[in-house]
Amino acid sequence: MHATTLDSLLIGPDATLHDALARLDATAQGIVLVTDAQRRLLRTVTDGDLRRAALAGTPPQTPLRALPAKEPTCAGLQASMRDVLQLLDAQRIDHVPVVDADGRIVDLVTRRELSQRVWLSSPHLGDDEATLVQEAFSSNWIAPLGPHVDAFERELAARVGVAHAAATSSGTAALHLGLRLLGVGPGDLVLCSSLTFVASANPIRQLGATPVFIDSEPQSWNMSPRALQRALDTLAAEGRRPKAAVVVDLYGLSAEMNALLALLDAAGVPMLEDAAESLGASYHGRASGSFGALAVFSFNGNKIITTSGGGMLVGNDAQLIDHARRLSTQAREPARHYEHVEDGYNYRMSNVLAGIGRGQLRVLQQRVDARRAVFEHYRRALAGRAGLRWMGEPPGHRSTRWLSAFVLEHPRPQRARDLLLDFLERHNVEARPVWKPMHLQPLYAGCRYFAHDGDVSAALFGGGVCLPSGSNLDTAQLDRVGALLQRGLDVAEAQA
Ligand SMILES: *Cc1c(COP(=O)(O)O)cnc(C)c1O
Repeated sequence: MHATTLDSLLIGPDATLHDALARLDATAQGIVLVTDAQRRLLRTVTDGDLRRAALAGTPPQTPLRALPAKEPTCAGLQASMRDVLQLLDAQRIDHVPVVDADGRIVDLVTRRELSQRVWLSSPHLGDDEATLVQEAFSSNWIAPLGPHVDAFERELAARVGVAHAAATSSGTAALHLGLRLLGVGPGDLVLCSSLTFVASANPIRQLGATPVFIDSEPQSWNMSPRALQRALDTLAAEGRRPKAAVVVDLYGLSAEMNALLALLDAAGVPMLEDAAESLGASYHGRASGSFGALAVFSFNGNKIITTSGGGMLVGNDAQLIDHARRLSTQAREPARHYEHVEDGYNYRMSNVLAGIGRGQLRVLQQRVDARRAVFEHYRRALAGRAGLRWMGEPPGHRSTRWLSAFVLEHPRPQRARDLLLDFLERHNVEARPVWKPMHLQPLYAGCRYFAHDGDVSAALFGGGVCLPSGSNLDTAQLDRVGALLQRGLDVAEAQA
């Protein structure tokens, strides 16, 4: 149901059958909701109720309250989509009104809208992927290494403006290799953005090093130069120099690279740029992923382009990237037999998946444009609405808007956020909280953390929401989500 029409379905108990029929006809939802002056739901009236009344000879001027009593089936604000579906099926009905703790109507879920889920970020194939994969099949190049892998590496490096790239089985694998190549090992300290997906931090620990988490700054939501400075100063005073810094470009927006690189360069700490979410973004005209000594991309299924699963380690140092390729193929020495000196991994991307990646890379710009249009669509739909702040795009930045995100400004942000997410979930719309910062994860309990001024990343997590952002969402879906957001925000703000 179009979300803004809820009020048009409300009708008082003194209205007549004829009024209800006219309302059903005008709203075309198959249901009207009989409420008292406090919006408390008294009953529902459906097409079927009116048909039965007419067949029983009830005069059209009969008030609705004289109809045979019918206890309304409704759901509470905590109901999930599954709960609603169960009610729909058990009662053989097509609508479930949602009421608050006082029985006031706040929402209506229809069977029709539950048939099509709106995903957060789903894969979006172009025209060339199947042909490229077919090439791999026809040439029998199903073995891991092959011409698509080499070409994908060259093409991606060219797109990002770096000299070299090594394709891997995942972004996480590329992060692990990148840290290894920067010399991270047992006992080292590694700085890391706290507001990120856990894969940014896990390889640090897996190499025996200790992460030190750095807060976000409020403009870009990315690593705070002020917090980084504080961390570097504090650690220097203790006589410690971090071995590397994992700097994340969140949700398609580059971090403040000028400020961060100045601090890191002065301290002699190399940057591993986690650009898993920001392929296609730029910062002062330079591509995201071209700033770190090494940088990582991901082609997981939910990213802006995908190989179904895969990653890439990029950089300008030919030796490092060569070394990454060797480590990613079990670190075999150049010899006829299998000779091993170093500890390697099976982290290489397969030739079949690289074929998909090449096709995806050809449509990258279209995917970026589409995601940016999604963001603008939401912004227009909620224009003028107070109580929320969109993730920004500071001067010099061009975001891909991989995920459209905002933070609720509410006295109880987390409660409001959860009510909104429950609301959207009930309508079969997938939305998510902003990443839970690493310094709040049980996995990283006890790790050191340097805040900005107040805990910015914790606040972004508390009130932050990521909306469906796929490049393949159509206008009807976006309109539906926009309208649901209006009503969901009303509910969240009122009930939190
Ligand atoms: C997706 C993601 C990764 C991990 O990439 P995979 O390809 O899924 O292993 C790492 N860091 C960030 C910030 C990500 O969003």
